[in-house]
Amino acid sequence: MKKQVVVIGLGRFGTSVCKELYRLGHEVLAIDTNVDRVDYLRDYSSHAVVANATDESELKSLGVRNFDHAIVAIGDNLQASVLCTLMLKEIGIAKVWVKARDLQHQKILEKVGADKVIQPENEMGIRVAQHMHSDKIIDYIDLSNEYSIIELVASAKVADKTLNQLNIREKYKCIVLAIKRKEEVDIAPLPNDQIQLGDILIVMGHKNDLKRLEDRGI
Ligand code: ADP
Repeated sequence: MKKQVVVIGLGRFGTSVCKELYRLGHEVLAIDTNVDRVDYLRDYSSHAVVANATDESELKSLGVRNFDHAIVAIGDNLQASVLCTLMLKEIGIAKVWVKARDLQHQKILEKVGADKVIQPENEMGIRVAQHMHSDKIIDYIDLSNEYSIIELVASAKVADKTLNQLNIREKYKCIVLAIKRKEEVDIAPLPNDQIQLGDILIVMGHKNDLKRLEDRGI
């Protein structure tokens, strides 16, 4: 469904969020105080406007209250990012997602009502470390502090066995959500589906259980 999203702050992060949302067919209003950044986004957004997002009357006159979703990506200017988040929530935007530079910034944003706080460098750093830590882990998504989804490469240990024989759900309390084989993705695999060497298993579970599976099960 088409969403109406306002993206505030068009640095590297805000720009990539804006371009991707627009490419996906959503209505995107891009805002920044910097004319060059706004000009660049004209071809990659529905509307691109030069405005100061800490000025409530400017935000209101742009019709921001009609948007369902806002992304605040005002990099290092902590005061502006907090003030803008607070105003967007007061205006009544249902979902306000904000980029934070560190944990302290994150805590303040949560207190003023941000619905989701993203620390891109921190999150990407963890993912890169996870990839480096294990040759088996292809990708890694945090669902919460305790649960994750990971992509694991099937080794010879599990090759030619069925999911039923491996019994991952019983032994490791993890769920195999899908199996990728080259370009094909088998979602919701069945108990008799056989794993082949090099298949990628997309598995969800508690982090401790996923670690056990990675170390001993796959
Ligand atoms: P990144 O780390 O993602 O590259 P930057 O810190 O470089 O982010 O970019 C932040 C952007 O936010 C800049 O383009 C800056 O002009 C914009 N910005 C800062 N304050 C405001 C404000 N009050 N209103 C609108 N845009 C702002």
